[in-house]
Amino acid sequence: MFSKIQIKRELYASDEHQMVRQALIDFLKKEAIPYQEDWEKQKAAPKSFWQKMGGLGFLCMDIPEEYGGSGFDFSFNAMILEESRRQGIDFGLVVHSDIVAPYILRYGNEEQKQYYLPKMVSGEFVGCIGMTEPNAGSDLKSLQTTAEDKGDYYLVNGSKTFITNGYVADFVICAVRTHKGTPQEGISLLLIDKDLEGFSTGKPFEKIGIKYQDTCELFFEDVKVPKSKLLGQEGMGFKYMMADLPRERIGIAVESLGSAIGILEKTIQYVTEREAFGKAIADFQNTQFKLADCAAEVQVYQAFLDRCIELQMHHQLTTEQASIAKLKATEMHGKIVDK
Ligand SMILES: Cc1cc2nc3c(=O)[nH]c(=O)nc-3n(C[C@H](O)[C@H](O)[C@H](O)COP(=O)(O)OP(=O)(O)OC[C@H]3O[C@@H](n4cnc5c(N)ncnc54)[C@H](O)[C@@H]3O)c2cc1C
Repeated sequence: MFSKIQIKRELYASDEHQMVRQALIDFLKKEAIPYQEDWEKQKAAPKSFWQKMGGLGFLCMDIPEEYGGSGFDFSFNAMILEESRRQGIDFGLVVHSDIVAPYILRYGNEEQKQYYLPKMVSGEFVGCIGMTEPNAGSDLKSLQTTAEDKGDYYLVNGSKTFITNGYVADFVICAVRTHKGTPQEGISLLLIDKDLEGFSTGKPFEKIGIKYQDTCELFFEDVKVPKSKLLGQEGMGFKYMMADLPRERIGIAVESLGSAIGILEKTIQYVTEREAFGKAIADFQNTQFKLADCAAEVQVYQAFLDRCIELQMHHQLTTEQASIAKLKATEMHGKIVDK
């Protein structure tokens, strides 16, 4: 019953959506699902996997063709996030395709867009975003990584922590303090390439879950970042980060939905096969009540998130709606897992 409801879903009903979705499922079954245990041990999905994803066009799907993308709308990005998580695969896609690439597309100059975006689409480059520091989490305005103006370049010193994709990434969009003034006025964003002298990373953290979505520390010791790597305008970093939060939040909400659907489908399969007291445990009324409750919950959130995705496709999703989506969808995910 549950899988039939999925197929009727209108948001991803076009021939193109269905083709892309099936291609992704086939790809993940071959190139990701069998390798998850190894990746968990390494605490990171390998770069080669990113490149295979890019080779088939699954990364940054809404990046315009002039920058190497397919120019699809946001619903394709959302579908890739949702289906990957439905298949149990989670490797930092939302950060790469739905946070870092859109920042560059929106705030980057032509040279930056031509340099980074085609490589992000192909998987040659993996991107990450460095905001959080050991002493600046929720209170982002108090970040302490400095970027001193030295004429042709910024001299960057400081560190970041909890950075998704930090280990595999080729560059980071890094929030730095470029000048004094009010705490938020002094923050700028720099594109810092991994190969610059003085830029190093820690080992990926040992995490409770999402174990091969690598998360690590970044260290900057007298890193000379050319002025040409400033993203957008100096002093606007805090505003940019706040403006782009809705997209990050809807991405995480959609991932939660995909994961909840996948968990429910696997559970239905399990209770159908598993027998106790002479019958499948799916035949016990309590199992049916619990599953019906989970299925109802998933469908309610699916309807709301589909609406949010449509709004995001037209750049109309508000911070409030995106926050509600992330809060409630992640809570729903936890509830389904518990049940
Ligand atoms: C798996 C993972 C991946 C991450 N990926 C990234 C990434 O890619 N890039 C990046 O920059 N960061 C990343 N982060 C960091 C994340 O953004 C921070 O963890 C988050 O901003 C919270 O900061 P904190 O952990 O320092 O908590 P704190 O700010 O120290 O907060 C601790 C607790 O205090 C509460 N609290 C804080 N302020 C208030 C307040 N004003 N009123 C009431 N309660 C409050 C919080 O709710 C929380 O419960 C990641 C974190 C995790 C766990």
